[in-house]
Amino acid sequence: MRIDSEQPYDFVIVGAGPAGLAAGIAAARKGMKAVVLEKGAVAGPLPRGEGVNRYPLFDDLLGSDFLETRCYRMDGSLEFHSPFDRKQVLLAGNKDIYFFEWRQFMDRLVEMAVSCGVSIRYNSKVIGPLVNKTQICIGVRCRQEDGAVREIYGKAVLACDGHKSVMGRHYGVDYDRLNCAMVKGIIRNANIDISQKPVLQFFLVGNGDLRYAPNLPPCVAYAFPLGGRKMEVGLMLRMGQASQMGNTVRIPGNKTFSLVWTRLKEEYPGFSSFFKGAEMEYEAVTALTNAGMVSSVIPAPGLVLIGDSAGFVDPFGSSGIYSSMAMATFWTELLSNESKKIAAKRKGEVNPTELWRPGRIAKYKKVFRRTGIYRHIRKSYARIGKFEWYVFKHLRTAERINSRWRLISFLLRRVA
Ligand SMILES: Cc1cc2nc3c(=O)[nH]c(=O)nc-3n(C[C@H](O)[C@H](O)[C@H](O)COP(=O)(O)OP(=O)(O)OC[C@H]3O[C@@H](n4cnc5c(N)ncnc54)[C@H](O)[C@@H]3O)c2cc1C
Repeated sequence: MRIDSEQPYDFVIVGAGPAGLAAGIAAARKGMKAVVLEKGAVAGPLPRGEGVNRYPLFDDLLGSDFLETRCYRMDGSLEFHSPFDRKQVLLAGNKDIYFFEWRQFMDRLVEMAVSCGVSIRYNSKVIGPLVNKTQICIGVRCRQEDGAVREIYGKAVLACDGHKSVMGRHYGVDYDRLNCAMVKGIIRNANIDISQKPVLQFFLVGNGDLRYAPNLPPCVAYAFPLGGRKMEVGLMLRMGQASQMGNTVRIPGNKTFSLVWTRLKEEYPGFSSFFKGAEMEYEAVTALTNAGMVSSVIPAPGLVLIGDSAGFVDPFGSSGIYSSMAMATFWTELLSNESKKIAAKRKGEVNPTELWRPGRIAKYKKVFRRTGIYRHIRKSYARIGKFEWYVFKHLRTAERINSRWRLISFLLRRVA
């Protein structure tokens, strides 16, 4: 095993997803030296979210034309279907949604990052942290395509490596508890008249409702029109209440999960209708950390967990693109400003011990907890937790959920 070491960067960023690239851009704009390490051959090798509400941060990071010219725009109305589609409620949209293709979105972020001088290293799989004598995380060990392992040092390490974060796992984060399994698909020639149904569709499935998978956790199947007759379709387990639902719930293995997905596409009332005559363009099983946030975003001095690696996802709608990029920008700017202040005072280089003194860490966390985005995500978890407790744990089955649909519709308006 060959180990090369390097001079420290200001930021070592693990993962070139939305969070990692946003962090890279923010660092470069602050005049900091940053490296982004990506295990794949491209940034964000597998498609994840492809729809966002508009925020100024997107114009800032993607260029002001991206959302307007490269996306399909909808008014963000949502339709919820009760189990077996016996009842529906339509919630009028109050914010437009912009849908894009993941690859185009990632390519644009890479273009913006490279244009401001961010160094991105592909085929570089981070395998764990490097720590000094005082247990500060001072870099990462990273395996490259040729098998060589390098040590890459930084004054701060930002873990933007998603829902199975190697950095988070090293520090004891249990992603099995935070992750919700999902299927994501894209279909063409969907059986939909978009002028009749230009809304995002969600189909609730209670625990115990499917005779072929009686212990399936509560879940939501979704179908989003993407313009023309293209749709994003998927299935998301809702694990927020699952751990408290006793032995009525069992986490499905891949075989059961695939069986459920196949049967829902073929025969679930309402949902299956979109698939008649459609062709599947993309279909994959994945997961998203939206059952809860990590207990500390700084699990060790020197390291910040960001985006999906921190469960920093709005659980209503499972939207994590904006929150991960906003979080990445926040932490990069905060740490850059702090480094500059320390350097000016010392009239020299900052060392990690100073940047990560316990008092400073407490201050960073306090400032983060005051941000609008942190408060929004916390509130969203609290609200969805109560809603899902009532619907999925207390009522639980199709019969009971359908019998309380008026109240559920009222609650959905409050949660949305
Ligand atoms: C099916 C699905 C649909 C979704 N829909 C939406 C939506 O419509 N709107 C929305 O806002 N959000 C949506 N989300 C959530 C959103 O995609 C994520 O919250 C967002 O991608 C998080 O960004 P991230 O950078 O934290 O993580 P990721 O996007 O997961 O990026 C992590 C990056 O790290 C790399 N990596 C992982 N491990 C290592 C390693 N050891 N070394 C180096 N690199 C590594 C990965 O290859 C990847 O490039 C969806 C998610 C899923 C799964």
